[in-house]
Amino acid sequence: MRLSVLGATGSIGRSTLDLVARAPERFQVVALVGGSRPQELAEAAKAVRAEIAVVADAAAGPALRDALAGTGIASAAGEAAVLEAATRPVDMVMAAITGAAGLAPTLAAARTGSTIALANKECLVCAGELFLQEAARHGARVLPVDSEHNAIYQVLEQRNLAMVDTILLTASGGPFRTWTMEEMERATAAQALKHPNWSMGAKITIDSATLMNKGLEVIEASLLFPEVADRIDVVVHPQSLVHGLVAYADGSMLAQLGKPDMRTPIAYCLGWPERMATPVGRLDLAAIGTLTFEAPDRARFPALGLAMAALRRRQGTTTALNGANEVAVAAFLEGRIGFLDIARIVETVIERSDALGMLQEPTSLEAVFALDAGARRLADESVHTVAALRP
Ligand code: NDP
Ligand code: MG
Repeated sequence: MRLSVLGATGSIGRSTLDLVARAPERFQVVALVGGSRPQELAEAAKAVRAEIAVVADAAAGPALRDALAGTGIASAAGEAAVLEAATRPVDMVMAAITGAAGLAPTLAAARTGSTIALANKECLVCAGELFLQEAARHGARVLPVDSEHNAIYQVLEQRNLAMVDTILLTASGGPFRTWTMEEMERATAAQALKHPNWSMGAKITIDSATLMNKGLEVIEASLLFPEVADRIDVVVHPQSLVHGLVAYADGSMLAQLGKPDMRTPIAYCLGWPERMATPVGRLDLAAIGTLTFEAPDRARFPALGLAMAALRRRQGTTTALNGANEVAVAAFLEGRIGFLDIARIVETVIERSDALGMLQEPTSLEAVFALDAGARRLADESVHTVAALRP
């Protein structure tokens, strides 16, 4: 199978290439795309004998070219080169760039009709309807990589959609599941980056601590499973072993379980419709002993409610929510704002963009980018105000 990987140097990208390296006879790696780390990208390209490596940051081009000199692997840099790499003919594209930056290349890949293994959830949150329409128009199948959605994809019976009672996404609850508001007010980036179960990129790890990640995932699920979009709910499951469940009207509940290792859902996509072996290993249920579940605390984790409210107001609001959240998370990681300020800033941006009449449904990619940029500007202003008031 011919495969390209967008976000090849990230957490999902590296897990994908780990599986590829274990089954080299199955894969021919075409393009690897990274953001701004040429050395890491060059190492990845050499390990899987990619045809071309492309770094989005144009300034990193010379370093990438030097690192690949004499290997026979081509290199390129800059946004246009990323789009060109994303549209090379392949069977599957792993879309694992983080944030709204992934939207344009993922959309370009979908327009070639290749199967898209979709990890980049922000792409759905900020332009889901446009993206899925374009994918359908070009015959591109979309397979969900995100563990919860991959779980639902495995247990949702297409012939029984009308009999679905509820779709349940599980949430670990993150590192602050049992913390008080006072404790969270003082939480540092280092504390928020210590996810109890999953090892992931920084942005999604902070989103897991605020529960914004689960909010983005409810939006993601509503787009991926539109027939049951009105029946999606969240349950906290601190062990992260049950990833998603579907409850049917007959009283049956089907769940997918597995270790918290993204190589399982990634392999499901890479091998689809067959299953592919991975080194993850099976769960030892007797050793685990207990699985626990609890309702999410929406008062301590307001980001979840903000995302679900944005979903009810549709795509313009989720686009603004996503842009504001990306800016706020970056500011928190830089130590400029507090942990609880993230949700406050997102809420402020939604209120202000609504008051400014910005929240109409974007009907083109240009409109999505304009709304995203507007929300980011408002979020920058909010970050500035909050940062100025901090001791
Ligand atoms: P990482 O931060 O670990 O990796 C991000 C990747 O995107 C890196 O390869 C980075 O390159 C690249 N990148 C960043 N900006 C750009 C850009 N402007 N153009 C091109 N490439 C860019 O993120 P994760 O792997 O954790 O997450 C990737 C996506 O998958 C996210 O949308 C996340 O929500 C989703 N996801 C992740 C899960 C996980 O377990 N990690 C689980 C479910 C979903 P560089 O290294 O050069 O910065
Ligand atoms: Mg997930």
